[in-house]
Amino acid sequence: MLQTLKNHFGYDSFRPLQEEVIRHLLAHKDALVLMPTGGGKSICYQLPALLSKGTAIVVSPLISLMKDQVETLCANGIAAGALNSNNSETENAALKRACMEGKLKLLYISPEKLLAEANYLLRDIHISLFAIDEAHCISQWGHDFRPEYTQMGILHQQFPQVPIIALTATADKLTREDIVKQLHLDHPRIFLSSFNRPNLNLSVKRGYQQQEKSKAILDFIERHSGESGIIYCMSRNKTESVAHMLQKHGVRAAIYHAGLSPAQRDEAQDDFINDRVQVVCATIAFGMGIDKSNVRWVIHYNLPKSIESFYQEIGRAGRDGLPSDTLLFYSLADLILLTKFATESGQQSINLEKLQRMQQYAEADICRRRILLSYFGESTTHDCGNCDVCKNPPERFDGTIIVQKALSAIVRTEQQIGTGMLVDILRGNMSHEVMEKGYQQLKTFGVGREVPARDWQDYLLQMLQLGYFEIAYNENSHLKITPTGMDVLFGRAKAQLVTIWRDESASTIHRRKRKASISVKELPLDLPNTEDEDLFEALRALRKRLADQEALPPYIVLSDKVLHLLSTSRPTTIEEFGSISGISEYKKKKYGKEFVEVIRRYD
Ligand code: ADP
Ligand code: ZN
Repeated sequence: MLQTLKNHFGYDSFRPLQEEVIRHLLAHKDALVLMPTGGGKSICYQLPALLSKGTAIVVSPLISLMKDQVETLCANGIAAGALNSNNSETENAALKRACMEGKLKLLYISPEKLLAEANYLLRDIHISLFAIDEAHCISQWGHDFRPEYTQMGILHQQFPQVPIIALTATADKLTREDIVKQLHLDHPRIFLSSFNRPNLNLSVKRGYQQQEKSKAILDFIERHSGESGIIYCMSRNKTESVAHMLQKHGVRAAIYHAGLSPAQRDEAQDDFINDRVQVVCATIAFGMGIDKSNVRWVIHYNLPKSIESFYQEIGRAGRDGLPSDTLLFYSLADLILLTKFATESGQQSINLEKLQRMQQYAEADICRRRILLSYFGESTTHDCGNCDVCKNPPERFDGTIIVQKALSAIVRTEQQIGTGMLVDILRGNMSHEVMEKGYQQLKTFGVGREVPARDWQDYLLQMLQLGYFEIAYNENSHLKITPTGMDVLFGRAKAQLVTIWRDESASTIHRRKRKASISVKELPLDLPNTEDEDLFEALRALRKRLADQEALPPYIVLSDKVLHLLSTSRPTTIEEFGSISGISEYKKKKYGKEFVEVIRRYD
């Protein structure tokens, strides 16, 4: 097994659970595999497919996913194909023939085609196993329900001797039960791996308004020069305005949302996958078809509506296991809007509950990863060290006066204002709305002038979290002071606020690209292990050239991780090149010479 893994995929060891799953499947038993995105699900059925006689049938819901998988396999010299409605009749006929002649190790197929071929093609070939990818599509409870998936129960009836492996990154219990039931899995073993993604850095910025967000995003992208990333926005308009803002500053950015034509969406996705644009500004419509392994960062321009969506979206970063950054902007305005949506939705209590859990994450002053993992039912014993809370534990100060100023302003308007107006009053802004109501006459007008507006936004979020006021969603989101708030206002209690850190200075210092940290055990021992950044860029350019020649996405030619390993250990012979983790025999022969030549020039 290890030999096959090294030869065909270039890896020296298995990831957690992979080996157990493979042994189980090779013993002709059914399995359900739950692993997070990037956990390494594909190898779980691809390796058994290589080790068994016949063809493995892999069911996949999207053509783009099939394409990615088939390209990845073929790039390693493995005979694989995809049967779907995008192909011409001749292509599909040729694929079918190859299967019947036993020449194809893996056949990817859409659920519709699978059902259509159940009594034809499938009867004529030797099937080693069925793999049902994205198996959560079978569940009505999930987010990607596909009616065709529910008919796949016939597989077990018609092919009782063929083992079935179902795989998904959606872990919830209801979905899990649905998969087992609907596929009629026979006493399946359930392999549940940890959903922790330690390579994802987690951070949140509170209270930023539009201009500050733009500046923070530009700084962030400058620190990630040349690295692919996704910016998720709440609305279609926002995706467009953010993309235009980036383009104006010379960043290659595409737009993706459900209001575009399928052709426009495909183009955006294709440009992103092939590194022709660096950034996609997207709504949640973007993602499921994306297997790109070198997405290095994900920004949430707005608060997502649940932790599930959030986790799935940030999960698109760092599939290759390299360090990747995530950043969430959290503002009161988003919270108010999402609360309104949730309240007006058909399932008010569930949706509000979900939103509150998301809010807890955004407001956390304990390790954020622990909050995520506990949401998914995993217990943790220590802080992660890779989130902003762990790195900069919050410091508190006596903020009683600040809180009193805000609460007093609320009282003086007879609790008839929202947050925007409140900040205007505190800051002494003669805005149109302020004048209209005559609020410039209030005693509290301008008492908070020394605090910048964005800090007021942050403090207000903290005050909401501390329970000093509530938002009356049914009254134009006006602010209402609670009894706890009254205690602070009248000096019966003190208020502890968290100090606001602005790390703009940090961003100018850390302009240089961070080095990807590669674990020492993955480096060949007898080669050097310091990264040369110029060499990395030269290798990246070579990869892009080769990828363009073959019309393949660059990350399929070689992953970012492999490029870092190469620029760190600098192999100068083809044999040494082949010893790098992630380089299969096939890629060694195909690419070794050119890469080694570039590396030699840097020696
Ligand atoms: P998933 O389908 O679970 O999201 P993939 O199967 O696409 O994940 O694997 C994610 C990444 O991890 C891929 O780049 C894959 O090549 C890599 N990978 C898988 N198994 C191993 C392994 N045993 N050692 C090193 N890398 C691996
Ligand atoms: Zn942490």
